[in-house]
Amino acid sequence: MRALIVSDIHSNLEALESVIRDAELGGGFDEIWSMGDLVGYGPDPEACIDLMRAHDGLCVAGNHDLAVSGRMGVERFNAYAAAAATWTADRLEGERAEYLAGLPLRLETHGFTAVHGSPRDPVWEYVVTAQSARASFERLETPRCLVGHSHIPFVCRIENGAPAFRLPTGRPVELGEERVIVNPGSVGQPRDGDPRASYAIYDGSAGTIAHHRVEYDVPATQRKMTERGLPAYLAERLAHGR
Ligand code: ZN
Repeated sequence: MRALIVSDIHSNLEALESVIRDAELGGGFDEIWSMGDLVGYGPDPEACIDLMRAHDGLCVAGNHDLAVSGRMGVERFNAYAAAAATWTADRLEGERAEYLAGLPLRLETHGFTAVHGSPRDPVWEYVVTAQSARASFERLETPRCLVGHSHIPFVCRIENGAPAFRLPTGRPVELGEERVIVNPGSVGQPRDGDPRASYAIYDGSAGTIAHHRVEYDVPATQRKMTERGLPAYLAERLAHGR
């Protein structure tokens, strides 16, 4: 079984399509698992929802999905995120709105707990520090955990008694028996200084996870964001991956 693991797609259709194409060329996949924030920021919420549903993706809700579907207010959002969430909410209706509103905060599959933020706070907590990683390991009821939210790809394990974050090396990581937290990085708005879309592939028979990056048509996404009146800052940052 091979799973394409994605997160923080953020209504970026060009990036999502590039990721799916790249994953298909690189050996294919049986399932898509998404760690939330399918929408928000970007110009194509409808098409991204449709593509995820067409692939029967296993998706948890992120903070942007919750705000857009009215399950939470935008008070904790910055002005750009709030503007994009409101714009997205105004566009979505019918089955697409219902799909977003029905996403769970947590899922378990193949020994992985899947959440957007962290096991103790699936909505807001960023797993980016040793402290947050340690708290996450303590809460885990499965050996493995998948998170999103920070838009930073990593593999985190306990090394010499303390959580250690390892950035992707380009080589598959063997999972083994030990507990692990993996962030596939962001498809639609990377923030690690690399503007290429980020994703990961879980290979169940090999017992590995591999991170990947793929280029997509950033100017096309930026043009649509400008045409649709989304904040210029959100379009500009895509070019820098920050
Ligand atoms: Zn996000």
